[in-house]
Amino acid sequence: ERDAALRAVDEPATTLDGRTIPVLVNVGSVQDALDARGADGSGLVRTEVLFGDRRSAPTAAEQAAAYREIAAALGGKPITIRTWDVGGDKPLRFLPQAPEANPFLGDRGLRTFRRRPELLATQLAAIREVARETPVQVMFPMVTTAEEVAWALEQLDGLGPRPDGLQVGMMVEVPAAALRIETLAGGLDFVSIGTNDLTQYTTAADRTNPAVAALADGLDPAVLRLVDRVVRQAPEGVHVAVCGDLASDPLATEVLVGLGVHALSAVGPQIPLLKARLRQLDTTTAAATATKALTLPSAEAVRTLLTSPH
Ligand code: PEP
Ligand code: MG
Repeated sequence: ERDAALRAVDEPATTLDGRTIPVLVNVGSVQDALDARGADGSGLVRTEVLFGDRRSAPTAAEQAAAYREIAAALGGKPITIRTWDVGGDKPLRFLPQAPEANPFLGDRGLRTFRRRPELLATQLAAIREVARETPVQVMFPMVTTAEEVAWALEQLDGLGPRPDGLQVGMMVEVPAAALRIETLAGGLDFVSIGTNDLTQYTTAADRTNPAVAALADGLDPAVLRLVDRVVRQAPEGVHVAVCGDLASDPLATEVLVGLGVHALSAVGPQIPLLKARLRQLDTTTAAATATKALTLPSAEAVRTLLTSPH
């Protein structure tokens, strides 16, 4: 039975009623990808972690080599490369930032590249090169407005026609983006919800401050309501994934699938557990549980619902 469970890790996870939910891995290194037993691909390559200690910006060729290595480590399954996500808790040595009073509310993610478009262009060139060889998705972090999406797409398309099969998406990490996703995602193939930042901004609780860690809970119904909104209001055909830490928690699987999320991207060691959990779920039951969770007053109440027979 144990052998069967281990073999099953490499198979796609299908719910009792036949819905297949890709379980992807979040990676910040080639090793993360090599260690990810059972991943159906990568739903988040944190490029700022991959190249975080470089003193000078990596060339397009260096980046392409690293992205290729990650794709190969995952057996050529699709990888989702996030463009540089600098700022807040993520320093990039080759892109020093001025001190700010509120770095999480300041110069972060895509925002930073409005003044350094050449750094984004080099990265996009590398991603485009790899996308000609292996299935690639590209996504932009910390998006707030439709104008930012349009700008990002201009940077991508300014380099020439998109390689066949290159999927383009954005992260949903800012409550404003979740609240108007229908106006942001029309020209995109997918969105991926970053529950770490989305929770931090929804609850006004710094994700790095242990004093407010209890408030920064991804199971807060306020956060779940935003996930629900994104799934329901995303334009037709736009795929919705979750790549924040909430996706790594098997307790949250039922509620996320119940809300209609199409794919989960998690830390490698959780993948077997998540696949096992998905195989026990019925999506109709999960949807009822999720509907109930949205009405509850607190993360604690949601946790109680999910841990008790229901
Ligand atoms: C997130 O914010 O949930 C996310 C996946 O991005 P990061 O944790 O790298 O900020
Ligand atoms: Mg984030």
